[in-house]
Amino acid sequence: MTVTRFAPSPTGYLHIGGLRTALFSWLTAQHNKGEFLLRIEDTDMARNSEEATEAILKAFEWVGLSHDGEVVYQSKRFDLYKKYIDQLLEEGKAYKCYMSKEELDALREEQMAKKERTRYDGRYRDFTGTPPEGVEPVIRIKAPQEGTISFVDGVKGEMNIAASEVDDFVIARADGSPTYNFVVAIDDALMGLTDVIRGDDHLYNTPKQIVVYNALGFPIPKFNHVAMINNEQGKKLSKRDGATDVMDYKEMGYLPEALLNFLVRLGWSHGDQEIFSIEEMIALFDPKNINKSASNYNLDKLLWLNSHYIKNTPNDQLAILLKDFGVDIHGHDKLELLLDATKERGKTLVELAEQINLILTTPTQYDEKASKKAFKGEAKEILNDFALMLKSWDKTLHLPCDYHEVMEKIVETKEIGFGKIGMPLRVSLLGSMTGSGLDEIMAILGVDATVSRIERAIQ
Ligand code: GLU
Repeated sequence: MTVTRFAPSPTGYLHIGGLRTALFSWLTAQHNKGEFLLRIEDTDMARNSEEATEAILKAFEWVGLSHDGEVVYQSKRFDLYKKYIDQLLEEGKAYKCYMSKEELDALREEQMAKKERTRYDGRYRDFTGTPPEGVEPVIRIKAPQEGTISFVDGVKGEMNIAASEVDDFVIARADGSPTYNFVVAIDDALMGLTDVIRGDDHLYNTPKQIVVYNALGFPIPKFNHVAMINNEQGKKLSKRDGATDVMDYKEMGYLPEALLNFLVRLGWSHGDQEIFSIEEMIALFDPKNINKSASNYNLDKLLWLNSHYIKNTPNDQLAILLKDFGVDIHGHDKLELLLDATKERGKTLVELAEQINLILTTPTQYDEKASKKAFKGEAKEILNDFALMLKSWDKTLHLPCDYHEVMEKIVETKEIGFGKIGMPLRVSLLGSMTGSGLDEIMAILGVDATVSRIERAIQ
């Protein structure tokens, strides 16, 4: 069975790059009817916080990526890591190193002076003498001294790293705490990972983790290192390029479906298809098709997708989502019409809320430029006659097409173009020249509110 995972370090919020990696892992698991696990890498007590863990879990909940089983916290597994450290020591696959900080610094300087790669020289690897006094040892693992460490990366292809590149690295610090690559390898193995999908900033950790797998006799999973997300200029995506926190996208009025669709296309493709429902992503996703090169973030694309998903979200669901944006239209008798009339114009829920408020709020001010243009000449007279016509219309006015009939009638009677009534009417109803179709707006407002807005505007 395929088992994948997402393993964030809780140092802040969930980054959209992290969510993209998580999505790729989640899709790989779903596609293969496997499991997707979540592990919080919180061993660095100084940099990690519970709030950050909560923020990450909340973001996961918002986008709807469900995980299987319990969340694994590395901070709760120190006893387990200790067991493996002891095992490796016993088996002679790891050893205590008594090198002091001064000695280490001196070695480093010497290597740097010779323009050599800085690496531990293995001086305690076969040490049998009496340990120096006053030095708490670190534990180092015996890495292979010759040959190559090889693996086939699902994205990058065959990777061969000379064993000389990997030194006997520390697996437990002097205070006994285990180190990063050691615990990652143990957890990935014990959690039964078959496919590790992560950012390629971790590519150079992989040989070290393979050393740990081999020392402990664990099977090695398949690795897929995904290229980073760049900004539109092809540089690493940073805060300056806009939001990087997943939850900022919620606040800006993006739908999780749109964000996931956007992210899946950053680094993965299926022909030239752009729109993927979650079901389609699951059916089609294969890590084989992850792009080798970095992909560029493009906000216009995200907006385009968001607008697509907003238009395709059922109105009752939109009404619920809009509550977070200060719009409560639940139970509004023209809810369907209101959303149908505004949906096209809101690329985000924030914009949609603005469009709705524009209709539902009686204008108290009129855009100066627009009203100058709209209310000149006989405009007020036309509006007045139009209001009278609305009040005395002999059929019930209900649908946009009913109001359209009244519009046609005034245009006909007055022998004017639609613009002569359209512009002043729009400014009267909304206070400005923007907004949805007039027939729809009047049908949403009803005769009384339409008339009273007109009267107010021309008084
Ligand atoms: N905790 C690492 C990070 O947040 C990910 C480790 C991994 O995926 O192997 O970057």
